[in-house]
Amino acid sequence: MSAAASSSKTGYLSHELYFWHDSGLETYEPSFEPRGSQESPESKRRFHSLVQVTSLADTLIAVKPREASDEEILRFHTEEYLKRVKDVSDGPIGGRIGHELHISHGGYRIANLSLGGVLAAVEAAFAGTISNAYCLVRPPGHHADRDGGHGFCVFSNVSLAAAHAIAKLGAKRVAVVDWDVHHGNGTEQHFWGSDQVLFVSLHQDKLYPLNTGGVESVGEGAGRGFNLNIPLPPGSGFGAYEYAFQQVVLPALHAHRPDIILVSSGFDCSFLDPLGRMMLTSDCFRSMTRMLKGAAEELCGGKLVMAHEGGSARASAARARCERTSPRAVKTWGCQRGDDACWASWSESCTSYVTTPPVVSYAPLQAATARCTCPTAASRCWRSCLATRQA
Ligand SMILES: [Zn+2]
Repeated sequence: MSAAASSSKTGYLSHELYFWHDSGLETYEPSFEPRGSQESPESKRRFHSLVQVTSLADTLIAVKPREASDEEILRFHTEEYLKRVKDVSDGPIGGRIGHELHISHGGYRIANLSLGGVLAAVEAAFAGTISNAYCLVRPPGHHADRDGGHGFCVFSNVSLAAAHAIAKLGAKRVAVVDWDVHHGNGTEQHFWGSDQVLFVSLHQDKLYPLNTGGVESVGEGAGRGFNLNIPLPPGSGFGAYEYAFQQVVLPALHAHRPDIILVSSGFDCSFLDPLGRMMLTSDCFRSMTRMLKGAAEELCGGKLVMAHEGGSARASAARARCERTSPRAVKTWGCQRGDDACWASWSESCTSYVTTPPVVSYAPLQAATARCTCPTAASRCWRSCLATRQA
């Protein structure tokens, strides 16, 4: 273990209000019975409960969320959108503020605190209070556009935290890695023309939003080459993700040399999640976290802040987070191998998922890993292009 790793301090942030966010009913045409939203507090509350009952919380540094100011929200979102969120929130019962997006009366305060949680964790990382942190915030943020939220997301939590690091905390460069199963379209929009923020999104190809997240979307102007989409085929297991990390994510991070790494951490790429068709297990999330933690220790003094995005499977979400962060918690649950054995009562039958091979022949993945995105070296491969940019 490196000196940086041995001295790293891990923060944890959540708040009771995050579980009170009401994402409303999903309604379709009249002949279909409305149902509760897929985005519910259940999986997040189970995660939080697990952190508490295993005493993992005793080993973590509590980070307190704060309110976000209008100025901080308006670094990306429009005044019209902010006013709309506040107006709906002030109404007697709340209502819809975008496609698949509902808030209840008072919902603005919770969305504000969700954003403010990620801002507070980033501030703590730059202050040295913590090295890295997990922010169990809700509602999520990576689908929120400049002028409207959708896909369960109200404010663009992670991208606004990146902007805050640059505007107020002295960061010159920030990297955002988004492994939620859906494309991080809002983060992409925010930094489309910026060379200060490297954005890498790994997602299920053509899932949501349907027509975004292609490998050809690389940014514009100064931002060209700093927006990297890695669309993966449905059914991808850790082999595909590991291949993408080795071929794109880690080389890009080393080329960009960020002052902090932020992660849009969606657990909906779990093989149990109803909204995705990927095959990741808790062991896979742990491995991806280790790779990013190692990169943060090499590149930016260990500064790594993860913020919760999607994840609807009650079992996998809680387990994945527990095992990812805590060997001690794993032991508490009786696991000897430090992997999925603690829920092996039924996951033994799922071994085939764990061993899903890399899907490296998939054309979009091939394109993402082979394509040069640098305007000054259009004919070069990914690696030589990155080396050129670093030089
Ligand atoms: Zn998602």
